[in-house]
Amino acid sequence: MQQNPRVRFAPSPTGPLHIGGVRTALYNYLFARQQGGSFILRIEDTDTTRFVEGAEEYIQETFDWLGLSFDESPRQGGDYGPYKQSQRKEIYKEHVHRLLEEGSAYIAFDTPEELELHRSEKENFQYDASTRMQMRNSLTLTKEETDYLIQNKAQHVVRIKIEPGHEIVVNDLIRGRVVINSSVLDDKVIYKSADELPTYHLANVVDDHLMKITHVIRGEEWLPSAPLHVWLYRSLGWEESMPLFAHLPLLLKPEGNGKLSKRDGDRLGFPVFPIEWQDPNSGDRSSGFRESGYLPEAVINFLAFLGWNPGTEQEIFSLEELTSAFTFERCSKSGARFDQEKAKWFNHQYILTMPDNLLAETFMTDLYQRGIDAPKEMVERVAGIVKERIHFAHELWDQSSYFFEAPLSYDEKTVRKRWKEETPGQMIELATMLETMDDFSADAQESVVMDWIQRNNYHTGNVMNAFRLAVVGAGKGPHMFLITELIGKDETVRRLRLAVENIS
Ligand code: GLU
Repeated sequence: MQQNPRVRFAPSPTGPLHIGGVRTALYNYLFARQQGGSFILRIEDTDTTRFVEGAEEYIQETFDWLGLSFDESPRQGGDYGPYKQSQRKEIYKEHVHRLLEEGSAYIAFDTPEELELHRSEKENFQYDASTRMQMRNSLTLTKEETDYLIQNKAQHVVRIKIEPGHEIVVNDLIRGRVVINSSVLDDKVIYKSADELPTYHLANVVDDHLMKITHVIRGEEWLPSAPLHVWLYRSLGWEESMPLFAHLPLLLKPEGNGKLSKRDGDRLGFPVFPIEWQDPNSGDRSSGFRESGYLPEAVINFLAFLGWNPGTEQEIFSLEELTSAFTFERCSKSGARFDQEKAKWFNHQYILTMPDNLLAETFMTDLYQRGIDAPKEMVERVAGIVKERIHFAHELWDQSSYFFEAPLSYDEKTVRKRWKEETPGQMIELATMLETMDDFSADAQESVVMDWIQRNNYHTGNVMNAFRLAVVGAGKGPHMFLITELIGKDETVRRLRLAVENIS
C-alpha cells in the first residue's frame, strides 16, 4: 500500500524569504494537497552564525497572507515535532554517535590553520579518502589520544566517511536518474563540538527520515548536496525509505543570465520578497509583493508558472485549479526568467475579477486619507469603470481623481489642439443647456448634447474633447457621459464654467 505523501518546506531563518523560496513552498503545497498528503513547515536553524531575529515570524506571516496552510509546523505542532531544529539537538547527537560507533563517521581535530596549510600546499585539496590518513583525526590517532583530546575539550568536528568507488543514484522526479561516483565527494562535516550542533546536511537527512518525508521538493541549488544526502541515508541504514527528490529550476534575472537577486529588484523596481522586510540590525526596509499591491492569488498564480506550465493556453488558475493540474512532468529543468510585466499582468487579471464592492472598500480608505468623503455607491461604480486601466488598487486614484475633484490644471497639448476661439461660447451654451435637464442620466445627456451639436452644425470632435478637457483636465477617461452622470449636474456645470474662466 502506498502511504500518503509527506512533504516539507524547510527554510533557514537567515533573513526574508526570497520569492523563489515561496515558489518552492507552493509546489510542495500543491503536491501535498493534490495527493491528500501532508505539508510540513520545518525551521532549519542549526547555523547559529546566520540566524536572524524575526525571520521565522516573517515566514509564518508570509504563508498566512498567501493562504497556504501547513498541517504541521512550529506554531501548530504535530506528531513528529519539534519542528525547529534547534530544539532537536539530542536527536542529532544520538545519530552522530551511532555513525561514529559503526565506523561511518570519524572525529577530526584539524584546526582551521592546519586545514588552511593543507589547502595552500595542495591545489584542490579535499578532505577525503586520499587525504584523511594524513590528517589529525580519530582514524590516525590512537583511541587513547582521541579520548584524551575529547576529555580535555579539544574542539573537534565529526566528518562523514565517504568510501570511494561507489555509485550514488539520485532519483529526481524532474531531472530523472542522476548517477555520480562517491569518489568525487569529500568527507563533509556533519557535527561541530563548538556549538554541539549538526550541520545542515545531517539535520536535514535525519529529520526527513524521522518526519517520514516521502518527497523532497526544493530548489536546484541543493542538487549538489543530494548525493551526500543519499550517502547519509545509506550510512544510517535508511536507504529503503529514502524520499524521492524533485529539484526545481532556478529563478533567473529578467535578462536570463544568472540567479534573480535582491539587487535585480532594486535595479528594475520590483520586489523579490513576498512581504516587506525590515532588517533588525540596519533597520533597512525591503519592499514586498504584498505592500506593492499584489493580491495573494496573483502571486500564487504567477509563481506557479515560474518553472511549471499546464501544457495548455490557460493562464489564470485558482489555487484549487493549480492543485489538480500540477505535475512534476510539466516542471522544467532549465531556469525560469522572472518577468515583472507578466507579474503585473496577473495582478491586473485578478483586479478585474475582484467584485467592485471589495475594490471600493480599499479605495474608500485611500479616498478618506485624501480628505474625500464620497458615497460608497459612487466609489463602487468608479472602481468598476476604471479597474480595466489599473494593475494595482493603489492606482485607482490616479486613474479616477477627476471623479472626485475638479481638475487643478488642464493638459496643455489638448488645450492647444481642442480649445478654439469659439470653444468658450460653446461651453457656456452647453452648461446653460445641461442646467435645465431633469434626467441627468448618461443616455439622456447624450441625446440632448448630440442633438444640440447637430442643430448648430458644431464640430463633434472639438466640442466633445473640449467638454472632456473641462471636466477631466485631459483628453483621457471612459465614456464622457458616464463621467458626468456620476459627478452630477451641478458639478458638471460648475466645471464647464470654471474651465472657461481658467483656460480662456
Ligand atoms: N534549509 C535549507 C534551505 O534553506 C533546506 C533545503 C532543503 O529543502 O533541503 O533551503
